Amino acid sequence: MSLPKASHVRQQFLDFFASKGHHIVPSAPLVLKDDPTLLFVNSGMAPFKDYFLGNKPAPYKRVADTQKCLRVSGKHNDLEEVGYDTYHQTLFEMLGNWSFGDYFKTEAIAWAWELLTEVYKLPKDRLYVTYFQGDEGDKLAADTETQNLWRQYTTEDRILPGNKKDNFWEMGDTGPCGPCTEIHIDLRSDEEVAQKPGRELVNADHPQVVEIWNNVFMEFQRLADKSLIKLPAQHVDTGMGFERLMMAVSGVKSNYDTDVFQPLIQFIAKEAGIEYHGTAPATVNDQPATENEKTDIAIRVIADHIRAISFTIADGQLPSNVKAGYVIRRILRRAVRYAFSSLNQKQPFLYKLVPVLADQMASIFPELKAQQQFVQRVIEEEEISFLKTLEKGSQRIHSLILNMFKEHVSRVTLHPKDSEGKAMSFTPKEIKELKEAIIDQYDSDLAKNLHVAATSSAPVNFQQAMSDYHFAIGTFKNHSADYKIDGKTAFELSDTFGFPLDLTALIARENGLTVDEAGFQKELEAQKNRSRNAQESEQSDWVVVNSDNGELSVFVGYDVEEAPARLLRYR
Ligand code: ATP
Ligand code: MG
Ligand code: MG
Ligand code: MG
Repeated sequence: MSLPKASHVRQQFLDFFASKGHHIVPSAPLVLKDDPTLLFVNSGMAPFKDYFLGNKPAPYKRVADTQKCLRVSGKHNDLEEVGYDTYHQTLFEMLGNWSFGDYFKTEAIAWAWELLTEVYKLPKDRLYVTYFQGDEGDKLAADTETQNLWRQYTTEDRILPGNKKDNFWEMGDTGPCGPCTEIHIDLRSDEEVAQKPGRELVNADHPQVVEIWNNVFMEFQRLADKSLIKLPAQHVDTGMGFERLMMAVSGVKSNYDTDVFQPLIQFIAKEAGIEYHGTAPATVNDQPATENEKTDIAIRVIADHIRAISFTIADGQLPSNVKAGYVIRRILRRAVRYAFSSLNQKQPFLYKLVPVLADQMASIFPELKAQQQFVQRVIEEEEISFLKTLEKGSQRIHSLILNMFKEHVSRVTLHPKDSEGKAMSFTPKEIKELKEAIIDQYDSDLAKNLHVAATSSAPVNFQQAMSDYHFAIGTFKNHSADYKIDGKTAFELSDTFGFPLDLTALIARENGLTVDEAGFQKELEAQKNRSRNAQESEQSDWVVVNSDNGELSVFVGYDVEEAPARLLRYR
């Protein structure tokens, strides 16, 4: 079966809303120069803010589009999920239809249902819808209007109440806001559905029961005193994740298995000489269990990140050491690191993917094709310079981890067994040799993983050394709390080698270790003070920038602040 074409599915959306009187507009660039509140556009409504705020009249009352969105910083940060789960990207397309003071709930809901079930022919018994259940604090009643509207289309057991977090949208602390209704789809097999109804898995982070479309009904304005008043005009703001829609219409289990990602994935696999196996998703905190899983995750991360990097550069934001430029540089480095350590790409690699992406997107986002060579050159140069520091930093981490492992092995008691499983006794000298063999083996594996030293295939002195090797590693990993990359080293890695904290944390995690993030923050703080005193800035990757209110602040990026909380979620 061939996969539905992305260009066709996207066009169906635009045509459908054109037929309902919508004016089709192109995507705004990812970086809005006149919006200081956002590093990147992270939803379809961002370019239309002024119309909702009443700063400008909307040129059309009904608009539809596909908007490039990036969720890698601030309130919406999905970076850590990417490559591990099936449905969060860094860059994604948000399909949207808009009513600026025109139609409201009745039409929006009717059209959403018609499009999904009649045009895309998604099975009705796999769709779930939510409505706002009300909020006492805000003295808001439940959105029974939406609930009742849905009753015309689907059955009671598929209409679910939702809380303020999921079903009440606000632009910011003040401004337009209102209830929303979201549509979720259950893509599990019939057997799985029989075991557990999909309604129990809505908004529960299940990889195959996913939110596809959010319809926001802006009817209130939040004032500075936190009270709500009714807006003079009511608006509709919808956003449907295009890659998720593609997963649904293709009947596959992951965004990556669609025509959106397959051309990139196949190209990466071929170029790296590694097969893509399409392994099931893991959670961020899982160790990839197998080599296939590990290379698959890397391929997915790269296929995702190249889109974010390429389009941001094409939209005029070059990688740099400050603000949005630094976010992009870090995403690029994250991709390089995956290519380097999981796909064994020691030479620039990512830039080769740009033409594939540019061709794929040329009909809808021609800006990339138009600047293909420029974008390639920028990426290649970034890769060259980062690969150099990566090599040096890897050596440093390697010796650090190896020393911890040595210390660990010196403490563990080994229980070698012969081929029949009987315990063998060894002289102290033999035990010492066995431990050395284990350390050698670990060293060579570690080196292989980090691709630093040439792999020395250490002679395995005893038949069962391997099982002890795994035993030692297992206990090492179980003792991760005892073995930390200290804050000072993590900071040195970032400061001197351009190794962002998330990369250090990733390598540590792969070896069952943790990083002293609090210690890192302390070092960062100390450096901030030093630079403040010396009136210096932009000396390193952890850059001191002048924030808009004139105070000095440090942009420490997304993962430093948010990753720990996210990782905890998965424990
Ligand atoms: P989720 O709960 O799955 O993280 P969300 O509630 O944060 O999604 P919204 O802000 O409501 O998402 O955005 C509207 C739509 O955009 C979602 O229904 C989804 O289809 C899509 N979307 C959101 N985040 C992503 C992402 N990181 N990658 C791909 N699509 C996304
Ligand atoms: Mg989200
Ligand atoms: Mg959600
Ligand atoms: Mg949502």
